Amino acid sequence: MKRIKLILVAAAAMGLLNVSAFAKPAPALVFKNNAELQDDIDKGSTVMFVFVHPDDEVFVSGTIALVGGDKTSSCYICCLGSLDNVRREKIDVPSRLKAIRWITKKYLKDYIFLDNNFTTLTPKIINVIKPKLKEVIEEKKPDILITFAPSGYDGNVNHRLTSKIVTDIYPTLSYAPKLYFLINVDQELNFKAREYRKYPPTDAIDLNVHSEKLGKKLWDEKLEIWENYSDSTPIIMGVMARKERLDKNDQKEYFRKMK
Ligand SMILES: [Zn+2]
Repeated sequence: MKRIKLILVAAAAMGLLNVSAFAKPAPALVFKNNAELQDDIDKGSTVMFVFVHPDDEVFVSGTIALVGGDKTSSCYICCLGSLDNVRREKIDVPSRLKAIRWITKKYLKDYIFLDNNFTTLTPKIINVIKPKLKEVIEEKKPDILITFAPSGYDGNVNHRLTSKIVTDIYPTLSYAPKLYFLINVDQELNFKAREYRKYPPTDAIDLNVHSEKLGKKLWDEKLEIWENYSDSTPIIMGVMARKERLDKNDQKEYFRKMK
């Protein structure tokens, strides 16, 4: 009896060994950069970021510096909300406004507020926003539209709904800009591996390169942008408090081309 038990245990152990030997490995975070986005920016493209809160630009501030620092490219930010939304969040409005003015002057063709007042994007507000956003896109005609991935970058419900608003109106546009999702791989900004696996990036903007146009590395420029938002943006306040950890950041911003 003991012997049979021993054989069974041995067989089970071998079975387990076999399972682990042949099981598919967990998907690795391997990234192949096809660099289409970088090429388009270098060639001179009009890029429009569609966000919901007037500080979401901090997530892609390196790419904004790249686009806005390039004299042949143009960068727009379209914000679905208004500055009143900041007021309601009890965030210091003057310092946020100062950061927005600063980034606009330095990098943007325009920071467009759709001026909708909401705490959460309700179906009623979304119906008001969709034609407004469509009008702005048709007017500015960006070559490239960039918004949050459907999981919302950091899971924020309004980020998720923003992604849905953009993908809903996309097929109704009179032309076909390239559409990219912003994918969160940033260790400091609440990295979500699940989002990465569901939407593997197609493009990475490497910030660890020296930008001749800016006279410094894009990464250093990103830090300067973060510095400008650190008085009024809680997530950046936190990042700046752990500044010494930033050298472990892989210094890239990731995107997934959808259309
Ligand atoms: Zn946000």
